Amino acid sequence: MPKVWHGLIREYKDFLPVTDKTPVVTLQEGNTPLIPTRRLNMAINPDIEIYLKYDGANPTGSFKDRGMTMAVSKAKEQGAKSIICASTGNTSAAAAAYGASAGMEVFVLIPDGKIALGKLAQAMAYGAQVLQIHGNFDEALTLVTEISAGFPITLVNSVNPFRIEGQKTAAFEVIDQLGFAPDYHFLPVGNAGNITAYWKGYQEYLAAGKSRKTPRMMGWQAAGSAPIVLDQIVENPSTVATAIRIGNPASWKGAVAARDESGGKIDSVTDEEILAAYRMIASLEGVFCEPASAASVAGLIKSNKAGLFNPGDKIVCTLTGHGLKDADVALSVIDTPQTVDAKLPSVLKALGF
Ligand SMILES: *Cc1c(COP(=O)(O)O)cnc(C)c1O
Repeated sequence: MPKVWHGLIREYKDFLPVTDKTPVVTLQEGNTPLIPTRRLNMAINPDIEIYLKYDGANPTGSFKDRGMTMAVSKAKEQGAKSIICASTGNTSAAAAAYGASAGMEVFVLIPDGKIALGKLAQAMAYGAQVLQIHGNFDEALTLVTEISAGFPITLVNSVNPFRIEGQKTAAFEVIDQLGFAPDYHFLPVGNAGNITAYWKGYQEYLAAGKSRKTPRMMGWQAAGSAPIVLDQIVENPSTVATAIRIGNPASWKGAVAARDESGGKIDSVTDEEILAAYRMIASLEGVFCEPASAASVAGLIKSNKAGLFNPGDKIVCTLTGHGLKDADVALSVIDTPQTVDAKLPSVLKALGF
């Protein structure tokens, strides 16, 4: 019998700030696949080993569930009745889902017209009160921070330390699944909570004797939205990868520490590179992620071209969210199907038989 998974709080409770009294709000998140690649690996570099940590397989389709199970459980423990967040989309979907499960009121502020439709549909379906603002994510985050300071509402953005605690479990899973820490870990960087969380997780597993080393942390921003790379706030960030369209990351310092302490790098990739990687991951490996997620693989391709790797290097790329969240992008950058008459000759002709 395979082991039953109880959600990441129960599985990793020894590493998390919870007690037996913490009311666990879970959708059985975590335990996502670590997929060894074959065709993608061959196309990029046959001498290295590439794995995809597919966090799009979480209950709401992104890694945000890892942080949200912790943030909402702790909010419940502290007696909160409502939660609030700013979001580029996935945080609102996760907050709305876990809030619904906990029976809490959920308030969400999103940038007007700049979030993927699937994510908006999720937040609405889970019953959150969603408000679009004429402004970007950074402005939305400032607003919800002020609201949570003035009213009895818990802020569940990644400035909430319990979010980082939950998200660090992805690093534990990588080591548990691989049996060791990889040489490099690639991931997209937006608000920079996730790279901060992974680095914390890798260090804690090392300290606990669960691994012998830590990977180099390789973070990737979109070129039009790369404040950490430029070392300055970007006022009007722009990229097709809406989940990382952030000009003033809340965990900026954490990301820089992860980079410097691990001997890694934070760099940028263009939208063209992101979309090329996005298509390769889906068409070569059968794994559909959202555009922002593909920044990790785009960064890997760029690093490989620059000659970074040694033969035998083990590399993990996090795919942060599911491709179905942003089907519009797929259909606009890839193609829409041809339509023909429902007659055998027409169909055969169109299929090229
Ligand atoms: C939130 C998100 C990111 C960015 O993660 P940060 O922790 O903000 O750096 C990347 N990809 C997806 C799909 C996301 O939802």
